[in-house]
Amino acid sequence: MAATEAPSNEQVYKVPLKVLVDRSLNKVVFAEARKDFVDVLLSFLALPLGTIARLVAMESNIPPVKLGSLSSLYESVSNLEEEHLWTPTCKEMLLHPRSSMESYYQHLKLNIDDTQPTKYFLCENLECSRKYGESLLSIFNNQRCSCGKLMNRIVYPENITLENGFVNETATFIICDDLSVLPNVLVTSLNLLEKLGIKDMDAIEEQTVDISKREVVDLLKLSLISKSPLTDFIFEKKPRVDDLNPTNESWFEKGEESSDEGRRIVVRALVKKSNKKFMFAGAEEDFADFLFSFLTLPLGGVLHMLEGNSSLGCIDELHKSISELSPDRCLRSQRLKEELANPKCALQFAFSGQILPIVEVSLPVYYCHTFTDGKINNLVVSTSTRPIYYGYDRSIQLKILDRKSSIVDLRIGKGFAKGPSTFMVTDDLVVSPMSAISAVSYLRSQVPLSDLEERVISVGVKEGLAILKASLNSTSALSNVLQQFTKITELEN
Ligand SMILES: [Zn+2]
Repeated sequence: MAATEAPSNEQVYKVPLKVLVDRSLNKVVFAEARKDFVDVLLSFLALPLGTIARLVAMESNIPPVKLGSLSSLYESVSNLEEEHLWTPTCKEMLLHPRSSMESYYQHLKLNIDDTQPTKYFLCENLECSRKYGESLLSIFNNQRCSCGKLMNRIVYPENITLENGFVNETATFIICDDLSVLPNVLVTSLNLLEKLGIKDMDAIEEQTVDISKREVVDLLKLSLISKSPLTDFIFEKKPRVDDLNPTNESWFEKGEESSDEGRRIVVRALVKKSNKKFMFAGAEEDFADFLFSFLTLPLGGVLHMLEGNSSLGCIDELHKSISELSPDRCLRSQRLKEELANPKCALQFAFSGQILPIVEVSLPVYYCHTFTDGKINNLVVSTSTRPIYYGYDRSIQLKILDRKSSIVDLRIGKGFAKGPSTFMVTDDLVVSPMSAISAVSYLRSQVPLSDLEERVISVGVKEGLAILKASLNSTSALSNVLQQFTKITELEN
């Protein structure tokens, strides 16, 4: 998946970034940044993991990066036939997941998220929107209305506002080498010089680099794999890909293994007896859905669930700095600060079978108002009702159409994978439809049959979070988790 180069005649938007470097140590001391740059840096936290997997696989000044097992999970979804998912929309949702915070960053000039922003659709049959009772509103194109026609009449609801980024217009910031964002006050910069032990002030010089989208993608990659992204970026050092599995065991030991309360997903795994290596699992659609849902989770929400222990480059530092930024002087509001520290899933991206503690945003109630002007039927969608004496002949409440629904099935909150069916899941989270033949050939090449045993794994919240974390750090995500939770896997059949 190579990125297409911007055509040479296209004006590339650039933001200058002032950086203080130590020439003797070849190290960035800190950078000083304004709104343009800080907004896009903070937008990383709002990006769903699927978007991140797609962006880091692109060519920028740095070669494509693979992220643990997340990249292979993403690939496997793109290879999956649509018939294994409820609707074609499901596949699009997983490969181009929306962000619940898209309105904050979609118009930023350095925005790197190429996902189409949410659009709103009504039934192509105008009469359907004029019906008494309830009409439908869809946030995906070409869904089926309950009348059987397509929902393809695009509408632009009133009172939808695009927000101007995350930070205040006039605020300036200090960005540390690990991408922590600090308010720009003199004492902070002096403290940093002291903390870094900089004695030779003559070696310190100021440098300005131009940041375009290409450089933003570089920084996204580095934030996930490097402990010193700015230094690596400025001095074009090869990013140190830290040993991929610095699993922080103590974090998992903090609590008991999941209790029996709450939903659990049962997976039958084939494990190599000799080294406890996970070979593959035969799983029902609930486990496939659980893994697919990783792609829809916003990075900030994931870092919140992992409580600052993602072990991913230094992205936890960026996330932590939100809590230190003032909601008056730096960020645009307290509400925004809370949202950014723990972004939710976008509307209709969560599902009822989710075992992880993350929810989706809710949408305001929309109304459709219709009126006739001469012979032309007009229609307005807004969040408020309108009195009929304004000339509107009708105001009706719109119900959001579930993205995976069809005429025959309006059950809300279903997952992505179509069931009942069985999927094969490999250690690096490649999900494919189960086939006995491919299972046997896969095993034959890997392990003598006598060295195999079946384990039943029961996945609750704790195990689920461990799999999520391992998906970011390890290409043997499930072996990794099996080794941490030896007890649960002893529950043979
Ligand atoms: Zn209709």
